[in-house]
Order: sequence, then C-alpha cells, then structure tokens
Amino acid sequence: MSFSTSSPHPISAPAIDLAERKIAYFSMEIALSKSLPTYSGGLGMLAGDTLRSAADTGAPMVVISLVHRRGYFQQHLDAAGQQTESDVVWFPETTLPSAGQEIVLIMQNREVKVRAWRFDVVGVTGHIIPVFLLDTDVEGNDLWDRRLTDHLYGGDTYYRLCQETILGLGGVQLLHALGCQPEVCHMNEGHAALLTIGLLEERLNGVPLRDATEADAEAIRQQCVFTTHTPVPAGHDKFGLDQMFAVLGHERASAIERFGCLHDGLMNMTYLALRFSRYVNGVAMQHGKVSQHMFPGYKVHAITNGVHAATWLSQPFQQLLDKEVPEWRHDNQYFRSVYGIAPSAIDATHAIGKQRLFATVKQRTGVELDPNVLTLGFARRVATYKRASLLFHSPERLAEIAEKLGGLQILYAGKAHPADNAGKGLIRDVFSAAARINSSKLRILYLENYDWDLGEQLTGGVDVWLNTPLRPYEASGTSGMKAALNGVPSLSVLDGWWIEGCAESITGWAIPDCDDEATEANLLYDKLENSIAPLYANKTGWAEVRRHCIAINGTFFNTHRMLGQYVSNAYFPQSASVAATDQVVEDEVRETVFA
Ligand SMILES: *Cc1c(COP(=O)(O)O)cnc(C)c1O
Repeated sequence: MSFSTSSPHPISAPAIDLAERKIAYFSMEIALSKSLPTYSGGLGMLAGDTLRSAADTGAPMVVISLVHRRGYFQQHLDAAGQQTESDVVWFPETTLPSAGQEIVLIMQNREVKVRAWRFDVVGVTGHIIPVFLLDTDVEGNDLWDRRLTDHLYGGDTYYRLCQETILGLGGVQLLHALGCQPEVCHMNEGHAALLTIGLLEERLNGVPLRDATEADAEAIRQQCVFTTHTPVPAGHDKFGLDQMFAVLGHERASAIERFGCLHDGLMNMTYLALRFSRYVNGVAMQHGKVSQHMFPGYKVHAITNGVHAATWLSQPFQQLLDKEVPEWRHDNQYFRSVYGIAPSAIDATHAIGKQRLFATVKQRTGVELDPNVLTLGFARRVATYKRASLLFHSPERLAEIAEKLGGLQILYAGKAHPADNAGKGLIRDVFSAAARINSSKLRILYLENYDWDLGEQLTGGVDVWLNTPLRPYEASGTSGMKAALNGVPSLSVLDGWWIEGCAESITGWAIPDCDDEATEANLLYDKLENSIAPLYANKTGWAEVRRHCIAINGTFFNTHRMLGQYVSNAYFPQSASVAATDQVVEDEVRETVFA
C-alpha cells in the first residue's frame, strides 16, 4: 500500500535495491544521530556503531528498529542528585523520508497498521545502510496502539511485548513488503526474537502455523543469528503465557509452546532466539563463556565488541591521524602505525580534548577544573552491578591520595531507568559522598544527562577511565574502548573487554580480583597511589601509555574488526563446521570451559 507523509514537502531518499540486501539487522534501540532519542545506552550505541562500520565497509545490510517518538528520556538532577525525567519528543514526519510502505499486523486480536521512516547511515564511500523505524502512530489505529512506538523501554510488560511484536513480526512483514528477502537475520539482543515466528509465517505462506514441521523450524534456524548482551537476569525479557496469548494470538502462541521455546513456564525471548538460531554469541570472550554456562544446551561463541573509530575519536585526533595515517578511515588496522607519531604529539592532541571537556564542565556547572590535575572519568548506565561508589569506600584514603598527588578530579555521569528507584538512590549516594569529601584538592562532579555528546567529550578528555563492575556482570563495556582510542588508559576490574584489553602499566591497570569490597577498594587506591600517580607525574612515560592505548587497543576494539568477524564467523561462515555442529553442546565441551 502506498502512503504519503503529512509533511507539506515529503522528504525523499535515494533508491536502494533492497533485493540485494542479504543481512537484516534487528535492534530495539539504535544510536543513529546525536539529535535522535532512539537509544538508551551501550546496546544502542553498539548497534549504531555496527551500522556505521557496515556503511563504511559496504556491507549488504538493511535494518529494523522502532521510531520511539517520545524517546528515551532527558535526565534532570537536583542539588541532592535526585533524578527526574522528561520526554524527548521528535517528529519523524518532518525529519525523515517515509519508507513508502505500510503493513497490517495482526496482534492483540486486531489489526494494527504499521508504517516506517527511513534513516540512512552513509559510509565513507557513500554506501547506504537504510534503517526502517517502525511507527504505529497511524490514523485509523486504536488510540492505545498509536502510542506503542513512543517510549523506548517504557510502560509495563504488556506494552513491552507489544513493542517486541511490532519489532520482530512487523519488521519481517515490512521487509517482505519492500521486496527484501534477507539470507541472514541478526537479532541484536532477545527483544527481536519474534522475527523467527515472522519468518516461519512467511515461509508457510498462508499455511497455518500449527502445520509447521521441524524441517520448517530448521530452515528458519539456518537463517538466524543471535547476540546475547548481558548475564544480568533482568536483561532477559520474560512474559507470562496470558500476555503471550493475548498479544500474539492463539496460533502463534501455540507454535511457540509446541516448538519448545518456553522456559520455566514463561515466554522467554532469549530462549526463543536460542531455539531458532544457527549461530549464537556473547560480546567478549569471557561473556561467551559466562553465557555458555547460562545456556548449556546451546553452543555460544564470542565476538568481542568494538566502537566506530570515526564516531569516537575526538576532532583533534582525527586531524592528527588524517595527516599522519589517513588510511585509518577505511581500515582501522592502521592505528598500529601511531607508533610512528611522537608521544609528545599524542599528548598535545589529548590536551585539546581535555580543554574542551573542561570548557563544557565550566559551562554546565560553573566549576573551573585544572587541566594539569589527574582527572578520572566514570560514566555508565546506573545499575547496581556497576558499583559507581566503590571509589568512595574509604573517603579518607581517597582524600589522602588527592592531597599527596597535589589534586585529583573525578567526573561522573549516568542515567538510571525511570522506574529504577534503587538506581536513582545510587546517584544520590555519589552526590552525598562528593558533598562530604570535596576539598580544595579533591573535586568530584556528577554531570547531568549522560548521552552520546557527553560520552564523546568524557572519553576523549579525562586522563583515566575508571570501571568497577561486579564480576562477571559486565558483558563487554565499550566506553573504555572509546577512551583507549583517544589515548586514555583504563583502571578497571578484570571483567568484560578489559580481560582482553589490559596490558598492565602499558594500556592501563587492573583492579585485582578479590571477594570482598573493602579489599577491592584498597587495591584500587593502591593502584591509583603507587602505579598511576607516579607515572602521571612522568610526562614522557604517560604519553607513551597514551600511544600504546591507541596502537594496541584502538587497532582491535573497533567495529570494523568486529563486523568483519560477524561476516566471516556468523553471517557467512567460511567453515561448514560452525553451522553443522552448533545445535547442542556436548557435556564434555561444557566441562572444559568451566573447569
Ligand atoms: C558508550 C556508551 C555507553 C556504553 O558504555 P559502557 O562502557 O558499556 O557502560 C552507554 N551510554 C553512552 C551514552 C555511551 O556513549
């Protein structure tokens, strides 16, 4: 069905032959541009960086997500650190071209019209990755249904299941209507798992799902790839059977039951995705092992995350590299050759990023920071396992170190989910700890509204990136990779990507593994006092660390390398063994992994 926008001047988009797009990537959130509120945190950033690398490297990809008209929220913090939120409203009809296509999705026992807006991610050579943002705010739809694509991670579980139905089933229907027949469908997290049922429906072509055979299920399995992103249980969506039947209807819900996709009596999006995927992976080597332990019936591989270098390198570094190693833009392997650039030039380039960050801090808070003082950064989605206040375990010791150093500055940022009262409490904890120990030698600031822009300035401007998650809950983490690209070493617990990225005293420092928090905090203080502070005082030594970060970690922890691994290991495996052996892992293999 054709469809026209309500904009007086419909925005047009270049024609793309979708029949040639072999990979369909599905994600509930994607950071597409700094001005669109279509992401919440790391998952959406990773999705956006993946697409930016796909565009740069000419991958035959097409993408499905939701429009999120009222977005993920803007964070406000009062003087005590109490968080309140406001919607970030945007209007796709005046911003983006229409996909020119509308589909009708049967859900909740009625018809829901779904249209889409097209956002083009354009690569260095002009290659376009079209992203279709599904939208149910269509005239004629039930009023409740019109609001279903408004809030990212908003509403209750029923609202969430409706959104996941639109993403998975609606997404497959839209691609089909647009003439796209992907060979591979990639579920970026379990939110998109219902695409498997959509593919099954398309395959049956009108034959009822109750007649689907195991061979049909296997055909879908051969088409699907699934990436799981967190070992935290709350990150795996589960729905009651009543909701499953109410939203999906009897035919689909029964098929999900019959194909053995329920888990503990619930519809579990992770298990649905596992059941129908030929390739499953975690997002760092350690996370692959942890996930293998969580899902022993399935083979779980690992592809370590990365970041899109041109998105996260500060402007001054981009200019330096464009001059010295212009090849980095199409091939990130060339970061290795920063060893041909003088450490002093790297240091001077970082100093510009630090100045820019401090100007932003001044403008936002009125506080003037000292560019000569060691500055730590800690910015993440606020969740208990990230342990934002481990650094304050012994405020006296921290103050002592700051005194001895001649000054220490610590910048915090991060949003708590609006419904997460415990998380909001953690922000207030940082505020009150800061209020107690701020002195002329120790400055602690919490910056409002952590987002793409602030993330870029922080990772490109501080001196050390701090990360203190509770093991083994950090699946990967990517902010430390952004820091590394900008010559910023990490001080981090050995979890997620840091197990692979830490070369002690070369790319950063590990907070050694231990069982109790007091000891862990002390080990953190020891590293700060005895390893980091003396090196920071040695300008040449520190500049060399900066260069190692870019040469060693920038070369590897980028999405160009990551996407290459998805293409050759997951999408189009070169070795037949991957597809042939992945169904069920032998106990023997499991035992080796966890011995
Ligand atoms: C990079 C980024 C994240 C993810 O970083 P983690 O290290 O996984 O916490 C979250 N939010 C924003 C705004 C980011 O830029």
